[in-house]
Amino acid sequence: MNQPLNVDWAADWLRRSAAVIAEQRVALSELDRAIGDGDHGENMDRGFNAILGKLDAAPPDSPGGAFKLAAMTLMSKVGGAAGPLYGTAFLRAATAVGDAAELNAELLVAALAAARDGVVARGKAEPGDKTMIDAWTPAVDAARAAAESGAEPAAVLAAAATAAEAGAAATDPLVARKGRASYLGERAVGHRDPGAASSALMLRAAAQAALA
Ligand code: ADP
Ligand code: MG
Repeated sequence: MNQPLNVDWAADWLRRSAAVIAEQRVALSELDRAIGDGDHGENMDRGFNAILGKLDAAPPDSPGGAFKLAAMTLMSKVGGAAGPLYGTAFLRAATAVGDAAELNAELLVAALAAARDGVVARGKAEPGDKTMIDAWTPAVDAARAAAESGAEPAAVLAAAATAAEAGAAATDPLVARKGRASYLGERAVGHRDPGAASSALMLRAAAQAALA
């Protein structure tokens, strides 16, 4: 039996994200050390730790409320490029779902697409620029295809996560055209984009929370 995509799922998603980001903190910063300034894991871990505190202090009452909590916290705690980008993503997702108590597949796809569009609006990256967009865009496309073929929300999320993982891996051979890594030119080739990697971790966490 899959977990309905209600507030419990949303909170579980954030908790699972916090756990996997904490576990991968050093690895994410290693990726960022290769093509950036080495802080992505620390930045994200700081943000998700703050999210854990807020989930306990002021539990949200809808998925949209949980996304808004995440947005505000990531914007204020993560800093760097990723904080405002992830903050915008969660804020747009919150707006897309409104006060719905539960997300069906269609609303889920709308939320994922809104999140991706928010990152694009803010960062102006295109697919192939070696950014988190290279995880988000295939994730949204796969989620939409799954939903259109009648998949349940949990399967839509699983498809999104798998596509995000492939998209993150596909950043390895790219030259970066946005963010700090773009200063490196060819030297960025052979390294995975840290934001694409963290995006894939978060989308897998969302899928796992839906199976719990
Ligand atoms: P900073 O680069 O300020 O140190 P982080 O290390 O936390 O910030 O995040 C770096 C990640 O942010 C990159 O790996 C990339 O995925 C993402 N990023 C940077 N600039 C952009 C952009 N313009 N659009 C989308 N994502 C971006
Ligand atoms: Mg960095």
